[in-house]
Amino acid sequence: MAEQNAVSQKKWYSWYFESNLLYRILIGLVLGVILGLAFKEKILWMAPFGDIFVRLLKMIMMPIILSTLIVGASSVSPANLGKVGIRVIAFYLVTSAVAVAIGLLMGMVFQPNTPLADFAETAGRDVKAPSPMDIVLNMVPTSVAQVIVNEVILAVIFFALIFGIAVSYLRVSPDERIKKAGETLYAFFDGIAEVMMLVIKGIMQYAPFGVLALVAVVLANNGPKVMGALAVVTAACFSGYAIHILLVYCGMVKLLGGLSLRRYFKDAKDPFVTAFVTRSSNGTLPVSMEAADNLGVPKSIYSFSLPLGATINMDGTAIYQGVCATFIALSVWGRNFSFPEMGTIVITATLASIGTAGVPGAGAIMLLLVLDAVGLPVTAGSAVAGAYALILGIDALLDMGRTALNVTGDLSCTAIVAKRLKQLDLSKWSRPAKEQG
Ligand code: ASP
Repeated sequence: MAEQNAVSQKKWYSWYFESNLLYRILIGLVLGVILGLAFKEKILWMAPFGDIFVRLLKMIMMPIILSTLIVGASSVSPANLGKVGIRVIAFYLVTSAVAVAIGLLMGMVFQPNTPLADFAETAGRDVKAPSPMDIVLNMVPTSVAQVIVNEVILAVIFFALIFGIAVSYLRVSPDERIKKAGETLYAFFDGIAEVMMLVIKGIMQYAPFGVLALVAVVLANNGPKVMGALAVVTAACFSGYAIHILLVYCGMVKLLGGLSLRRYFKDAKDPFVTAFVTRSSNGTLPVSMEAADNLGVPKSIYSFSLPLGATINMDGTAIYQGVCATFIALSVWGRNFSFPEMGTIVITATLASIGTAGVPGAGAIMLLLVLDAVGLPVTAGSAVAGAYALILGIDALLDMGRTALNVTGDLSCTAIVAKRLKQLDLSKWSRPAKEQG
């Protein structure tokens, strides 16, 4: 009898953890909309439940940036930084920067916004934008502790990258003592990164309630007009994804590589579709590797470039960040970014993509960092938190598109680098894809 009770007790809540998180967040969004519209200011008591979610996200931001960036930078072995490494990394960084710019452009064209008037006091409106030189200068911290405590994101990123690169050198030192120290540091930060991933998983179990409360408050304060804005955000993101494929990837394959687009997409479509469905660059890795093999890329190149790309190259995520940051600025400040602010976003989002894990939803966490860098911190009770929650409600849909783009970017760069280094097996391009082993 006691045993039976234990089983039935476990059952009443276990359905929650066993059901798909995606659907739960979506249900949270829909319920939040309904409750907000139906009960208006009577629902405002829910606000602290949303604030808890925001505080939890903020809590993990700094440990995540530090650990994932240090692990990302220190996993590129200096031995791989030869001809291939430098080219691959340069391609990844340049295409990510272009992607953020396309995202910001889509923001300008589509103007996604929903004036969150009740929160107009949110900081930022009167802050003087720093000049490009100031942005570069401020990236170099004079005190590491200070920039971590004050959450000066770009400076923290800068330090984490330098630190990570130095660790990668320690790891290959001929001196056993130094090598061991490097491995210990790597294992330490890798451990923190893994712990943070686990913590995020736990926090996301609360996301449906957090999103429900945040969205209900936004709807209660602002009415139904916010829903149309989300459709515009989605249209802006997907237009950006399409433009990036057409301009950047097709341009690279055709113009830089002189290769057939038809032939390229015959094999590239498999990882594209897999990424779209799984929303994970890491999970798609085996399919991407098979596609690279079918496209005639030597294993020596793709076995380095594709795992690295799944970790540090996130063009779709970069576009999403450009669009969403614009949506939040327009909604909260009532104005778009100035050019220096856009410069900050391009730099931060490009560097943030290095720290974005290739797993579902990681880009939404990194968006917090980009927002912080540009003076739109997600803080409890702020308009930014409300706008952020709205985006989180449709994150699954946006994530599908951005992940598909992320893996296509890895594969395109890989094929082009192989072609330019004259290591691409062109015999695989003269026969139809189906015949390839
Ligand atoms: N899901 C994406 C990926 O795996 C990362 C993101 O959330 O932007 O590439």
